[in-house]
Amino acid sequence: MDAAAFDYPALLERVARDVAPLTGSGTPAEYIPALASVDPRQFGMAVADLDGNVFGVGDWQVPFSTQSITKVFTLALALAQGGDSLWERVGREPSGNPFNSLVQLEYENGVPRNPFINAGALVVTDRLQTLTGDASSELLDFLRQESGNPDLGFDAEVAASEQENGHRNAAVAHFMASYGNIDNPVPALLEHYFWQCSIEMSCADLARAGRFLARHGLRADGSRLLTRSEAKQINAVMLTCGTYDAAGEFAYRVGLPGKSGVGGGIVAVVPGQCTLAVWSPGLDAQGNSVAGVAALDRFTTLTGLSVF
Ligand code: GLN
Repeated sequence: MDAAAFDYPALLERVARDVAPLTGSGTPAEYIPALASVDPRQFGMAVADLDGNVFGVGDWQVPFSTQSITKVFTLALALAQGGDSLWERVGREPSGNPFNSLVQLEYENGVPRNPFINAGALVVTDRLQTLTGDASSELLDFLRQESGNPDLGFDAEVAASEQENGHRNAAVAHFMASYGNIDNPVPALLEHYFWQCSIEMSCADLARAGRFLARHGLRADGSRLLTRSEAKQINAVMLTCGTYDAAGEFAYRVGLPGKSGVGGGIVAVVPGQCTLAVWSPGLDAQGNSVAGVAALDRFTTLTGLSVF
């Protein structure tokens, strides 16, 4: 379908109206105290097309805590810089378990199911740390360049809050280290992981930053980050694993590769067409934004845009 065929501003207004009854439902993440105090009634959505246009509705320019959405970008950087050997250390199968679960790790010998659960993301960050010497700064620089927003930064309060309450992530990292699947010292790795999760971005920033996935691996400046095949692979893993143990339901309702975070944001990709970002802090039991998933569902239903 031709990109010009869609009136994105009108579509976004319609979607926002349709999901308005849902904004405020669900609960903001409570296990990270700095996130628990966010007003759950906020809602924003943005679309970035491949001609450089960005359209938005509601709170689309309000920065929020990106959390696990950053796992997509670290995966892209680790694959771009280190290649396929990453897949010897992390799998590509849906986990069917919560994002911070420990249970599978023991009977699968410390190799996480996929890069989008916390265990898998810790392995990817460990790899990026080995490759670059400063994983979280590498990620932030990349996000600044791709979003065109030089003011993006870490949220020190959120990072500290995660560090203080990060026993489970620390346990996961130490457990994998005991199987030889972590190369860097665990405390340093956790620090980079928490900084990474704390990066604040708006829907506009995220939609822009994710465009390399819709452009089959090409960055904002036209240079190539990923091969076409690698971009396809990341989109595939987002579709099957990007929304944790709700990935099946997300694929059923939205029909796009997507990655959520417990800050209430979700990025979704329409390969060859556009990138979508949505944010509303109220989460469902699996840690995905209630109004966010509903908005993407509505958007793909109204437009027919889907990978299926
Ligand atoms: N920082 C969060 C954690 O590690 C990220 C989880 C998420 O967004 N699903 O627990």
